[in-house]
Amino acid sequence: MRILAFAIAILGLSAVPAGALPFDPDAATRAWLDTMGADATARSNAYFEGGYWIDLAGTLVSVAVAALILLLGWARGVRAWLERTVKWFPFVAFGVSFFVNLVSTVLTFPFSYYVGFVREHRYDLSTQTFPEWFNEQLIGAGIGLIVGSIFLAILYLIIRAAKNTWWVWGSAATVVFAGALIFLQPVYIEPLFNTYTPMQEGELKDDILAMAQANGVPAHDVLVYDRSRQTNSISANVAGLFGTTRIALADTLLERGSPEAVRAVMGHEIGHYVLGHIYSLMIMTAGLIIITFAIVHFAFRAITKGERWGVRDISDPAGLPVILAIISAVGLLATPIQNNITRFHENQADAFGLNLAREPDGFAEAAVMLSEYRKMEPSALEEWVFYTHPSGWNRVHRAMVWKANEIAAGRLPASPGGPPEGWVPDFVRAREAASPEPSPAVASD
Ligand SMILES: [Zn+2]
Repeated sequence: MRILAFAIAILGLSAVPAGALPFDPDAATRAWLDTMGADATARSNAYFEGGYWIDLAGTLVSVAVAALILLLGWARGVRAWLERTVKWFPFVAFGVSFFVNLVSTVLTFPFSYYVGFVREHRYDLSTQTFPEWFNEQLIGAGIGLIVGSIFLAILYLIIRAAKNTWWVWGSAATVVFAGALIFLQPVYIEPLFNTYTPMQEGELKDDILAMAQANGVPAHDVLVYDRSRQTNSISANVAGLFGTTRIALADTLLERGSPEAVRAVMGHEIGHYVLGHIYSLMIMTAGLIIITFAIVHFAFRAITKGERWGVRDISDPAGLPVILAIISAVGLLATPIQNNITRFHENQADAFGLNLAREPDGFAEAAVMLSEYRKMEPSALEEWVFYTHPSGWNRVHRAMVWKANEIAAGRLPASPGGPPEGWVPDFVRAREAASPEPSPAVASD
């Protein structure tokens, strides 16, 4: 019987009588989400839903650019020229990769400009001027060109050495290469875009360090990075691998969030670290890579049959646009799988963070603040397909269920569900202050 009751409970068909909880988590969740008001909710939905179309358009643009490079004979021409001049295969592969990457970056620039600059400003998410943004694009493109071309040259060496089984060895090499990049990222890449400084001494920092140390995170300092240089939206992250792993918190979160929200978010990040998510993410992603490469292997053969477009076989760098187009298409189709892998880990970190920080209201506050760039209430299917994190509704609801049960169990002092009296997200307040028409949400403040 007890097992049955438990099974019913975890299926969401709560066997606990509603009266046993101090408040209704559903109503408390609604109250948190209502603080956004209709305007901010509509903006948030429009921004996030637009992202679905951008993913689709991005794939179409990539495939179109690859087709252009291929059909105009550019990749073949550059390969033939390099074979005559530099001759050595690794250089030929590197050169063709560099060329194809460069042309793609230039041709897709209008799309990147719209998505990364125009649209971000339209939604008040960017704090950058065009020169600032463009400068970062140049740095990013430069790194991408060099690192990407080195990687592709290595991949071509593997393809040439094992034409039929390269997709197995190539996947292993990709994981090792990605691991090396993740390892180097906090040390060599991130400082090119942001400055990381020790968090100001105080109670909040001591709290975060105590949470970290209590859970075996070898941290002696808390890092804050100047995310405000790019955007005002809040964030925090874990980066690095082995010895370079570190948790960093955005200055925007520190500035805009309550101390409770900061603790809740850091509890989540510590969860990623303690649960070894970087490793399990790499292992699961490796599975996705091997499937993708296997598809590339067989689809390439079918597409370029009979040396179409002058591509000799899969080891010919002139066929790189075909490989990139297949990877783009498979990547789009695999979006739900990739997102489920990520969301699986985010769900775990959410649960870990709530239990560690014990800040359900801070967690709900952060979830609402994240609505600036994430739709709060998707349909179940929409969440399954498109979401890298649990939806805002699910996160607030998890926090409210946790809070109600902890109060019921006597482990948390009694307090009502829902947001603190009069609490409104700061971005809603700012927009209302800027607009001439008074709104009910501000009037009650
Ligand atoms: Zn996370």
